[in-house]
Amino acid sequence: MKKLFFYFIAFISIPYALKAQQETLHKFAPLPYAYDALEPYIDKMTMEIHYDRHHRAYFNNFTAAIKGTELEKTPMVTIFASISTQPPAIRNNAGGYWNHEMFWNCMKPNGGGTPSGTLNEAITASFGSFDNFKKLFAEAGVKRFGSGWVWLVVGADGKLFISSTANQDNPYMNTEEKRGTPVFCLDVWEHAYYLKYQNKRADYITAFWNVVNWEYVQNMYDSSTAKK
Ligand code: MN
Repeated sequence: MKKLFFYFIAFISIPYALKAQQETLHKFAPLPYAYDALEPYIDKMTMEIHYDRHHRAYFNNFTAAIKGTELEKTPMVTIFASISTQPPAIRNNAGGYWNHEMFWNCMKPNGGGTPSGTLNEAITASFGSFDNFKKLFAEAGVKRFGSGWVWLVVGADGKLFISSTANQDNPYMNTEEKRGTPVFCLDVWEHAYYLKYQNKRADYITAFWNVVNWEYVQNMYDSSTAKK
């Protein structure tokens, strides 16, 4: 009888458990590849700690900070557009969670090479050449003091620009001077490279080009220009 009662309670709880899951828009996505898939450029232990500890902590802290509020149902880009009205716990953890998710997608095993199509044309139009874009992007990463990110961004005029943000900020945030739609990013926090590259951030950036998923960046670029 006790056992039957247990099954009864479990059964009637299912819809409530499902409903609770649906209440937030914000989900923790799986890493799109194995922890060791980006070796030797990004090592397995860095990926494991970066994804499963840093990224997960940002996500958990973000969901805890917005629990029971309307932000659970607010798209991230909308939250970023008025991030100046939010406390640091939301700004840092929302950025940390969203930025990393984009970063994982900007990489893939056997990546690298050069972009093609409209993205390649836009990069050439804005920076003169792909090589010059790489140089400017890497410089922005090396110059970022402390922790932060480097971005390739589509501006309001539809043109590409490079920007660098501090901490877990991003180009969607209304705290940024130059805002736009990010299509590509690089994490230059020490936790992203220190185990393998120690203080040599420039070497980490050089290695990063070997794992870039240009198809993903192309898709992001296409969807950002289609909106305009
Ligand atoms: Mn990171």
